[in-house]
Amino acid sequence: MKFEKDTREKNILQAPRGMRDILPSESVALSKVRDTCREVARIFDYREIVTPIVEDIGVFARTVGDDSDLVQKEMYTFDDRGGEQLALRPENTAGVCRAYIEHGMKSLPQPVRLWYFGSFFRYDRPQAGRYRQLTQFGIEAIGSEDPSLDAEVISLQSKLYKSLGLNDIRLGINSIGTQSSRSNFLLALGGYLRKFEAELSEDSQRRLKTNPMRIIDSKDLTDQEIIKDAPKILDFLSEGDEAHFHRVTRDLDSLGISYDIDHSIVRGLDYYTHTVWEFEPIGASGQSTLGGGGRYDGLIEELGGPSTPGVGFATGIERILINLLDKGIIDQQVIPPDVFFIALGSEGHHTAVKLAMELRDHGISVKAGGGGRSMKSLMRAANNSGAFVAVVIGDEEVTEQSAAIRILRDSADSDRNLKVPQEDLVTAIRDIQSQSVVDA
Ligand code: AMP
Repeated sequence: MKFEKDTREKNILQAPRGMRDILPSESVALSKVRDTCREVARIFDYREIVTPIVEDIGVFARTVGDDSDLVQKEMYTFDDRGGEQLALRPENTAGVCRAYIEHGMKSLPQPVRLWYFGSFFRYDRPQAGRYRQLTQFGIEAIGSEDPSLDAEVISLQSKLYKSLGLNDIRLGINSIGTQSSRSNFLLALGGYLRKFEAELSEDSQRRLKTNPMRIIDSKDLTDQEIIKDAPKILDFLSEGDEAHFHRVTRDLDSLGISYDIDHSIVRGLDYYTHTVWEFEPIGASGQSTLGGGGRYDGLIEELGGPSTPGVGFATGIERILINLLDKGIIDQQVIPPDVFFIALGSEGHHTAVKLAMELRDHGISVKAGGGGRSMKSLMRAANNSGAFVAVVIGDEEVTEQSAAIRILRDSADSDRNLKVPQEDLVTAIRDIQSQSVVDA
């Protein structure tokens, strides 16, 4: 491929605005979070699903709501070379439901319990904790309207935060009922809000005409003041909707999961029904929500599938990492190698490459010290590497078929230097390794 000459030749290229590189110092923490997500999903018997990063635009436009910020302002869309209208996925509930329909998962035992972990894209205004490429772990439990499934999904999310060591968090929960409860509420809400129309933010004035529900979670401070005294949806729930919500909260009580009923949680998307919730750190401000979810009983039908209920949540991995790092629960660290290998001379190098591979074959991690440097500088590099031993192969060791071991990290009663036959190297390293684990 031929590139046109870059007229900004001297400009240094950077990652796109709102998108970040995750460097090795952070990726260890990221892996720990990912492993915990995977493990929590396992103990609840959820299965991983991986869907494409790009979907047909209709997957989101039809479900998320044509007038939602997500579709109107935040979606990255493009026409591919064949003229297909595609979008980088801004979220995954709609994509997972599209896959549920496409693969006939309705014929599997219900509910189908799924999880995902991946990248999402939103053309948001970047700020701390808000990116244009974000990572989410999410759960979707599809095919049952049982309220205990809402509680199961919430308890999985709560278990995730606890397993990560995030204890000071608050769960806010609400019910937005079904369409019929909502239509009475919307009449009352619209009547109340119209009295304050002129004072509402521009966005909310627009929403008053399209979808007044969205005004309830407006971030605008004046809007929030007005909303405080607005009618509450819980007062408009039908008997059936109220019973659903009661069974969810009763399960949460049995599980010992505390929650606040929060009338301001309605979630921004069209497809939610019944239970909606959000977790946030206690005392947090700004971009703080760790994750939220809800029931979406009409979504699959909206996508052209058979009428199928579902419930799920998504949590932001960057927000989790920010909280873990801030609270010192996780460090930015690079995992050190077990062994730093020092080869002196060409014969030493020849033997060292073979021995290093043998250690790796036994699961011991080895960093190879570069050749052509002095013993002093290689020992300095070995100490800086964080390895617990250095193995030195010089002329003498080649002749003796031995390996010299220098213990770098303190281990109470072992000699700091020892020599072992090359064939015993793996065992010797293992012994020192287990000794240092005991000492620690
Ligand atoms: P949502 O899909 O909007 O319900 O978001 C679920 C979670 O993803 C939020 O609670 C945040 O933790 C996270 N999240 C949403 N948008 C962003 C963003 N632009 N940057 C970083 N994290 C985000």
